[in-house]
Amino acid sequence: MSLYAPATAPYNMQSRRGRLLIVDDQPANILYIRQILAEDYDTFMAKSAEQALVFCADTPPDLILADVMMPGMNGLELCQRLKQQSTTANIPVIFVTANQTMEDETACWNAGGVDFVSKPVNPQTIRNRVRAHLTLKFQADVLRQMAFLDGLTGIANRRYFDDRLEAECRRCSRSATPVALIMVDVDFFKRYNDRYGHLAGDDCLRRVADTLKASLQRPYDLVARYGGEEFVCLLPDSTLAGAADAAGLLEQAVRSLAIEHLDSDVASMVTISLGVAACQPDRGFDTETLIKTADANLYKAKQAGRGRICVDAQTSDGRPGAHG
Ligand code: GH3
Ligand code: MG
Ligand code: MG
Repeated sequence: MSLYAPATAPYNMQSRRGRLLIVDDQPANILYIRQILAEDYDTFMAKSAEQALVFCADTPPDLILADVMMPGMNGLELCQRLKQQSTTANIPVIFVTANQTMEDETACWNAGGVDFVSKPVNPQTIRNRVRAHLTLKFQADVLRQMAFLDGLTGIANRRYFDDRLEAECRRCSRSATPVALIMVDVDFFKRYNDRYGHLAGDDCLRRVADTLKASLQRPYDLVARYGGEEFVCLLPDSTLAGAADAAGLLEQAVRSLAIEHLDSDVASMVTISLGVAACQPDRGFDTETLIKTADANLYKAKQAGRGRICVDAQTSDGRPGAHG
């Protein structure tokens, strides 16, 4: 049992064990509950509501079992605080409580709890309640994830990108690190559809999406479908030069697919044009500006002949304008 879990990469929802956080000021209570649940779940402990908040901000668990009466912040306030933050609002909280009056129960519901278990704890009751609420939580996670995926390509959609862009800009502002965007658009894609048919067009978009995703190597880089045949890459902690290098890899990777496109003026295979922008977000930063700059550079890459990258006023190899 450890207090802080290591930061983990996004996990596969179907195959993971649930992560439970047990919050109680009495270590003996935590140990008793843990003994009942540790075989089936990864269990973590916090000896105060304050510790629990820190843990949840770092690595949100799947479910919390919280004591109500604790010195300092009590369990009800802990639950209310978690519900106010978007990153922790979806964690179900089950209260483990010796208080059993009608008013106590109402207070638990009002604080945002999903259930409660009475002390002394009946092992079978707590096992069943945890299993039921974790099942619901995992199902809701799948639905939330689907709402952020693009139906055609299976990569992230525009809504997810918008959320992540805001969050990453805030984070990069705090850590004083730059953030970069690459806007990507398939060249002469209307002609591709006209010649090869809409279904082949769909297939082409799926292959381009897969390739863009596979070509970005850092775990926190994101590729999303921005709309139609347009994609966007979000590269946190990346300089303009770093993003220009990444754009070069993407451009080459799509060419290497060698998807025939005999009606393109650029080449006999499908190509993409890319616009790159980077900035150092500060407080009150407007993400629109970054998107507009990347978009303007994409437009310049198109104007300069397509199948190329444009990086701000300079190209990735230092020449002004766009290059192929
Ligand atoms: P440019 O090189 O200037 O980008 O030319 P383009 O033909 O790629 O750009 P335009 O905006 O004129 O056309 C985009 C085409 O992308 C038209 C639209 O039918 C097609 N398209 C958008 N979404 C989809 C999709 O989901 N599937 C298919 N097959 N085609 C799509
Ligand atoms: Mg296009
Ligand atoms: Mg387009």
